[in-house]
Amino acid sequence: MPKGFFHVPKAVNEPVKSYAPNSPEKAAVLAAYKKMWNETIDVPNYIGNEEIRTGNTRNMSAPHDHQHIVGTYHLAEKKHIEKAIASALEARKNWANMAWEQRAAIFLKAAELIAGPYRARINAATMIAQSKTIYQAEIDASCELIDFLRYNVEFMTQIYNDQPKSISDVWNRVEYRPLEGFVYAITPFNFTAIAANLPASAALMGNTVVWKPSDSQVFSAKIIIDVFKEAGVPDGVINVVFGDPVMITDTILAHPDFAGVHYTGSTFVFKEIWKKIGNNIHTYKTYPRIVGETGGKDFVLAHPSANVKQVVTGITRGAFEFQGQKCSAASRGYIPQSLWPAVKEQLITDVKSMKMGSPEDFGNFITAVIHEGSFDKLAKAIDQAKADSDAEIIVGGNYDKSKGYFIEPTVIVTTNPKYATMETELFGPVMTIYVYDDKKWAETLALVDGTSEYALTGAIFSQDRYAIEEATLALQNSAGNFYINDKPTGAVVGMQPFGGARASGTNDKAGSMQNLLRWVSPRTIKETFVTPEDYRYPFLGE
Ligand code: NAD
Repeated sequence: MPKGFFHVPKAVNEPVKSYAPNSPEKAAVLAAYKKMWNETIDVPNYIGNEEIRTGNTRNMSAPHDHQHIVGTYHLAEKKHIEKAIASALEARKNWANMAWEQRAAIFLKAAELIAGPYRARINAATMIAQSKTIYQAEIDASCELIDFLRYNVEFMTQIYNDQPKSISDVWNRVEYRPLEGFVYAITPFNFTAIAANLPASAALMGNTVVWKPSDSQVFSAKIIIDVFKEAGVPDGVINVVFGDPVMITDTILAHPDFAGVHYTGSTFVFKEIWKKIGNNIHTYKTYPRIVGETGGKDFVLAHPSANVKQVVTGITRGAFEFQGQKCSAASRGYIPQSLWPAVKEQLITDVKSMKMGSPEDFGNFITAVIHEGSFDKLAKAIDQAKADSDAEIIVGGNYDKSKGYFIEPTVIVTTNPKYATMETELFGPVMTIYVYDDKKWAETLALVDGTSEYALTGAIFSQDRYAIEEATLALQNSAGNFYINDKPTGAVVGMQPFGGARASGTNDKAGSMQNLLRWVSPRTIKETFVTPEDYRYPFLGE
């Protein structure tokens, strides 16, 4: 038990390294990349203190060179999932009662391990098997993950500090207990930081976890596991299982001690999970917490007063970095007729200048999309746009999967504001633009708000304060992260808490105190110092 009101180190955001030519960080990450590229690793399931290899394996490969295998991982069976749950429940006995400063120390140590000795490896792993450029890997796998770990510790202490009023003879206290049971973390392929944060945030608050990473992120998940082990996360606190997501999920959601799910991924899958939890509700000992951050159809809206270069950069960076595979990536744009000729010219010039290829070549701005399923879906949407009379591809539109899953950054212009790619999340480097009549600004605001089921991120560009004010109000429910004169991507932990509503999620804001509150169940303790000894109140004296 703590014997002091300990202060944690003030959380600071990890500075983004430049990876400029001849920098030591560039040499270090390329050396790690080469080494990891030429090795093959074998990743078991991690359950309690055991590493479980089932022999039923899948290969891990590089999306930009899909025949190149960098390792294998083992698929768990139902009995292993049951074992992982049992292991989490067993570990909970000690972990839930451990003093908070011990938990804080573990995750603060994990942050510093990534900032230092693991930085090159976790970035290289993210470059190799998720095909991120070095800059995208650095802001995700290193900086965002470090920030999550540091800030969550600070947020935890802020939560613990939030205490009710007391009076002289009554002392009121609130204790932030971990949930009773275990937490299930299901993570997506696209952010190494999210993969680590979903299990770690629940564990930091005293919960034990079964974590199922995405099949397309196992390579960097292995580095996360190594970091957690070295930082001192005890066996059984975060159990890691790979394999059939439906079997794993069904097994977990059928367990009476299931206490919450921390999910990030596509909307349909989340809704299915929610439905299953509803169907099983009579099974559970406690109402499970359901936290999910899901899809997006994020917009860039330019007002006639906008600066053309800023709008174009908002689109090129917002839509095409990491091949548009960010939940926050811009994928629908609204440009006024008066600006369109200039925006179009600059956009075509900029997109044509983007180099595409392996992330090992630092000159490439675009690399491959994550897997064949994603490639085929994107190629089909591009072919459809080529065939449709209400759509025109003004730049890009080619694709090639012979070596890697390469899709050119593509801009579609449509005359139909409800065209399929204005509404459907494609999760790739495809941006669709609708050119609107300058006189129809108010109607366009309604259009932006009413198009697509999502409400994750959105950006408006304007030099006119009245227009900014009008858009901020009209679009108040259209995005959980709203940007003024900036691209809609790149939220920073501690600065822009992240999440959206409508079909984009439960909006519990990753990287904020609100998220951590979902992983505790407060207990109020009232202690009376002079306890009454007679039921008769004075008024009864009459
Ligand atoms: P995905 O839905 O394919 O997979 C997400 C996770 O769910 C993976 O671990 C996967 O194995 C698992 N899964 C798949 N089918 C399942 C099922 N039937 N039951 C249980 N689990 C299942 O998503 P993805 O391709 O990895 O990631 C991209 C999606 O994630 C996009 O829709 C993107 O918008 C979203 N995303 C949202 C945010 C956010 O903060 N809102 C952040 C990142 C990604």
